[in-house]
Amino acid sequence: MASSEPIIRHEAGSDSAARAADLCTLLENYLEPRQVEKVYRAYQFGAAAHEGQRRLSGEPYITHPLAVARTLGDMGLDAESLCAAILHDVIEDTPTAKAEIAEAFGPEVAQLVDGVSKLTQINFRSKAEAQAENFRKMVMAMSQDIRVILIKLADRLHNMRTIFVMPPSKRSRIARETLEIYAPIAQRLGINSMRVELEDLGFAALYPMRYRVLKERVRQQRGNRRELLDTVRDAIAESLVEGGIEAHVIGRQKHLWSIYQKMRSKQAGFDDIFDVYGFRVVVADVDTCYRVLGYCHGLYKPLPGRIKDYIAIPKVNGYQSLHTTLLGPHRIQVEVQIRTAEMDRVAEAGIAAHWLYKDAGSASNVAQTRAREWVHGLMEMQESAGNPLEFIENVKIDLLPDEIYVFTPNGDIMELPKGATVVDFAYAVHSQIGDACIAANIDHRLAPLRTPLATGQTVEIITAPIARPNPAWLDFVVTAKARSGIRHSLKRLQGTEAAELGQRLVDQALGAMDLSLKAISPEQVDAALEALGADELEAVFAEVGLGRRMPWLVARHLSGVDEASADLDKTGSSGALTIRGNEGAVVTFARCCRPIPGDPIVGFASAGRGVVIHHQDCNNIREYRNHPEKWVDVQWDAVAEGEYPVAIDVEVMNRRGVLASVAAVISDLDSNIDAVEIEEKEGMIATMKLVLDVRGRVHLARIMRRLRGLSAVLRITRRRG
Ligand code: MN
Repeated sequence: MASSEPIIRHEAGSDSAARAADLCTLLENYLEPRQVEKVYRAYQFGAAAHEGQRRLSGEPYITHPLAVARTLGDMGLDAESLCAAILHDVIEDTPTAKAEIAEAFGPEVAQLVDGVSKLTQINFRSKAEAQAENFRKMVMAMSQDIRVILIKLADRLHNMRTIFVMPPSKRSRIARETLEIYAPIAQRLGINSMRVELEDLGFAALYPMRYRVLKERVRQQRGNRRELLDTVRDAIAESLVEGGIEAHVIGRQKHLWSIYQKMRSKQAGFDDIFDVYGFRVVVADVDTCYRVLGYCHGLYKPLPGRIKDYIAIPKVNGYQSLHTTLLGPHRIQVEVQIRTAEMDRVAEAGIAAHWLYKDAGSASNVAQTRAREWVHGLMEMQESAGNPLEFIENVKIDLLPDEIYVFTPNGDIMELPKGATVVDFAYAVHSQIGDACIAANIDHRLAPLRTPLATGQTVEIITAPIARPNPAWLDFVVTAKARSGIRHSLKRLQGTEAAELGQRLVDQALGAMDLSLKAISPEQVDAALEALGADELEAVFAEVGLGRRMPWLVARHLSGVDEASADLDKTGSSGALTIRGNEGAVVTFARCCRPIPGDPIVGFASAGRGVVIHHQDCNNIREYRNHPEKWVDVQWDAVAEGEYPVAIDVEVMNRRGVLASVAAVISDLDSNIDAVEIEEKEGMIATMKLVLDVRGRVHLARIMRRLRGLSAVLRITRRRG
């Protein structure tokens, strides 16, 4: 549906309009007219949004995004990427919202711009070497779409080209970031041309003196060696012509940053670096590559150990080439790279070489599909070359990440699986943090424990000394570390709680025999342990607490009274067990009757669950009639702690606002509604079935009294199973 109308570009005489027109001329080589028009519209939109803004250099701001788009146009990227490149600073630096971009250019462009903005917001605070790798992974992870990275790289490239207007302090920070984060990403994606330029610009900005000195040395040496190099070059070219091989022989020079790196890593002076210059031979097919290698070795002796076959075994980023170093006249070393034209294109453009605009229809996931194809292609290449495992590790993880990367408040990066929550993070920091966490600040905003985290967030865990892990956390944590941490400490907690309760139960049973634990001699304890088949008293107490052993039986063994004459009053008669409500998981309150402090209660030992407390009037206690050995004599402590759920039915006139007024009374009296259910009765009357938290009978009585005072309330009853 390409329209035949000419694209109208208003060249208002401005420099940037001319640049935009230039860009469109370039794009006409490979995009459809309507797509070129869309890119031009993006320019107009961007120019309007950035109107009045200037770069530090004094140029209108729009010249920057235009330059970014130009880089991507030279790489042959699609229309969406180009629009997004032109608009890439619009969300960050102008009042324009993502929705407006989506409205004008579609969701795909908006998504790309949003992705670039998010990358721009990452704060690379910690500059530790070890962190750089994580930062690179984070950049990858944040860019759901590989085009986001390409735009960001082009953005960084232009910022580096114009960095000298920046104040020196800012310059070195940006330069370091470029060298540590962005240049390696370009390398990973195989975009060598970009990587080389980013590295040399970074070098020049970070170490201006060293850069200048080294540049001068290289220039001098080239002058000195020009003749020798020409000789080698002519010799290679001639011998290939004689052999009937059509080839392109190109002189090349190692870039300054890599010379500098080599000097540093080998602790060598410049004169010790021999492979500063070399040649590249580009031929038609793979077969010819190997023949060229033969001719070169026929001309000059190759340096042993320096012959590399990256055609058979490509580099991780897809780079393919034959490398050899020749010992030339006067023993100068000359590195020769031999490859096909296709390999040459991939070596310079990497993933972008796989981008060349092919089909007219642009589905939103075309980019991701191509990225996957690229990875896939690389994998196949590597598989045929062997050692695929390491390769998959390196590339797949980077490009198709299953991880998220979040910051600690100190700026350290934590790697977590996708879907990880605040609790996973807390346990990843330390198991003690996990055990004590109660909430988190995510990017300075309070968030509950089950909140899933996203790459780039800063997470600060809030802990409380009395906090304990909750079994419900197991439903949402995703890491093994959190899971086992929670289980472990629940078990530990339950163990100590059970032992404490068990000890009290045994002491109580001893009390019924006019004895106490203090009065039992160590010999009697040992004898009892042997009879019970246990190693230590603590473990026996824990089992009692969990309801797996009967306290009276343990008490009888401890007392040393022999079985036949044992007092069979199993429930004992003195000193009921007092319930304070802080016993933990080993004392539970039955949900059927919901006993609260002040209620008459009974307890039952229940295997594995400890003691379950019921209201004395609960219907369910009938089934325990035949198991008197399971009864535990209990009573409330005078100062029971905590809040207890209680169920009440409130019969009301069903009119507007009645629930609100009931709820207001309840919250006014410092209680909390856990559950509400409303049952319509005939006509105007309804029953509100509530579950409230109360501190005890007195608290409940106050609430009920106040509720009765409401005109709409007819009747209140407490509900028991
Ligand atoms: Mn920018």
